[in-house]
Amino acid sequence: MRPLNGVPVAAYPANKTRIKEMKTIVICSGGLDSVTLAYKVAAGGNFLSGLVSFDYGQRHKKELDFAKKAADRLGAPHHLIDISAVGKMLGGSALTDEIDVPEGHYAEENMRITVVPNRNAIMLAIAYGVASAQGADCVATAVHGGDHFIYPDCRPGFIKSFEKMQSLALEGFSKITLYTPFLEKTKADIADEGARLGVDFANTWSCYKGGDLHCGRCGTCVERREAFHLAGVDDPTDYEDPDFWIATVEKAKQKAGA
Ligand SMILES: [Zn+2]
Repeated sequence: MRPLNGVPVAAYPANKTRIKEMKTIVICSGGLDSVTLAYKVAAGGNFLSGLVSFDYGQRHKKELDFAKKAADRLGAPHHLIDISAVGKMLGGSALTDEIDVPEGHYAEENMRITVVPNRNAIMLAIAYGVASAQGADCVATAVHGGDHFIYPDCRPGFIKSFEKMQSLALEGFSKITLYTPFLEKTKADIADEGARLGVDFANTWSCYKGGDLHCGRCGTCVERREAFHLAGVDDPTDYEDPDFWIATVEKAKQKAGA
């Protein structure tokens, strides 16, 4: 297993057989990772109960249309849950407020401005509630190794503890597994797996800026572009600035080696 950001990651017992034929709800933002996850769940012989997306007051809602498209393509219902009133109280992030979205590599310090406090924990708790109400067996989320550096509520320790907490919160009502097959994977691994699953990458959205095209300069665009490159997978995305990532990734490498 590859250590991520220098931190060894504990093995997580997630695999296809573990969730075989489980009724699964996938948290899907419309991005490359969560759309690939939805395909993976569907391809693994499971019953895809639905895709759940959240409107947390993000500055653009474009990504949510791509979640709906993925659900339609997979023949699963799409539930858009409006938590924008909650999002309003979590201000101060470049994703929700009128603060410039930082450009550059994810690993750079300024990407911390993209943290919406407790966002993943809040979304997971709601998804668990929905799963319990609908009699589902599993909640799937596409957190991956590249998220660990900046987002604490995407790290393996959090994920394990959250699943444990939920088993107590729903004791006697539901037994719901938290499925996180990408927890120890890189985004390049996800692009590779998505290609094998036949994911329609052109119908996924990553950019934080929400323009007509992917900007190519924000952290998530750079990460997306780099992932396709590392995976050796054709990137069908049109970027406003298609080459910005090259110098940015190089700069981040030099900084990491310094
Ligand atoms: Zn962008």
